Amino acid sequence: MKTATMALLMFVATSAMAHVPDMENFETKPILADLKDLRALNIPVLAKDERIEVGYAIVTPLMQQRIQERSHQVGKCGGFEDLSLDMHVQGAGFNGILDNLAKIQEQNALYDRAPFAPLALEKNAAIESALTEVSEDNLRAYVTWLSSFPSRSNRDAEPNRHVDEMKTRLESMLAESKIPYEISQINHTSTKQRSLKVRLVGSERPNEIVVLGGHLDSINQSWGGGKTAPGADDNASGSANLIEALRILMSKSQPKRTIEIFWYAGEESGLLGSAEIAKQYKAEKKDVVAVLQLDMTLFPGSGELVIGSMTDFTSSWLREYLKAANETYIHARIVDDKCGYGCSDHASWNRQGYPALMPFEATFSKSNKNIHTTRDVITPESNFKHSAAYTKIAVVMGMDLANSDARQPY
Ligand SMILES: [Zn+2]
Repeated sequence: MKTATMALLMFVATSAMAHVPDMENFETKPILADLKDLRALNIPVLAKDERIEVGYAIVTPLMQQRIQERSHQVGKCGGFEDLSLDMHVQGAGFNGILDNLAKIQEQNALYDRAPFAPLALEKNAAIESALTEVSEDNLRAYVTWLSSFPSRSNRDAEPNRHVDEMKTRLESMLAESKIPYEISQINHTSTKQRSLKVRLVGSERPNEIVVLGGHLDSINQSWGGGKTAPGADDNASGSANLIEALRILMSKSQPKRTIEIFWYAGEESGLLGSAEIAKQYKAEKKDVVAVLQLDMTLFPGSGELVIGSMTDFTSSWLREYLKAANETYIHARIVDDKCGYGCSDHASWNRQGYPALMPFEATFSKSNKNIHTTRDVITPESNFKHSAAYTKIAVVMGMDLANSDARQPY
């Protein structure tokens, strides 16, 4: 058994070294996924860490599809992280990857157990006033527009049509910016789709970065459902939250730290865009102090203004920050929950050691069951008041955290 596994790994390592992996048209690929999902699907687990319930496997396209289907069934957006580029660059260091992940989780658990005074934010009039500018009508308009593309999938024949149109829209919005900015598309090795990035440059400590992000791609996994993938909740909603946050933040005074807003490519195919970006940032030793992930914010499955805060593969410190921000400004109800490894792009940043936060539309089991189908459109249950709370989280992080010297203390 062990020998067979070793031989398989050597084969993968050798073939990966021979050429750059084509991650959209592959024979087999290495992934990290929730151990429960791998087991439920009888996919051979080559390495695992029971503490964090993460398994490493090599999958065929059919296995990947089954993971995606299962993720969808249990209500996850993503569901696995593609490691093809890691294998290519680093060789078969998957045990190290699992160990690192477990260590990060352990640090978070220690922080949770430590008797710190709870975080508190001091109320700031400028932030309070900015939060009143969050417009539900704008959010509805952005979601309507983004979900009108037939598909935003990275495997679509035109995977960048909506990315290009979004860039044009943001450029005209940014013409009014009071803050120096840069806007760019990011090319990837793992997918033809590009990510989009807006950088609002900080005044005093521009090298310290607050990341606000969400994935712009969509997917349709339903059998015989055609290729239409409106993705209104998943994730036009989080993308819209970020556009609205940008509109408000760029009209305020320049923050001390830099704010970077990302709309990631190819999340639904294994966190492709965010994984490359986070890896690149780590390699360049970029000082990212916080990462907010917004993925699905439109369906209030646990009730209006009930926010699920995912506690796995996120930062304890940022989760506490969210609770403090909520107490002072947002006034929603925060409920802790888990979504399993790789449920969204925050996993990419977490794995590189950056503090991440994942406030979600509901508790995990109560989230929108229509995602990844043609039915993920604006419906009578879509709730823009609920969704507006997530823009408010982004605005608070952009105006409070990006103006402070607060950092994860571990
Ligand atoms: Zn999603």
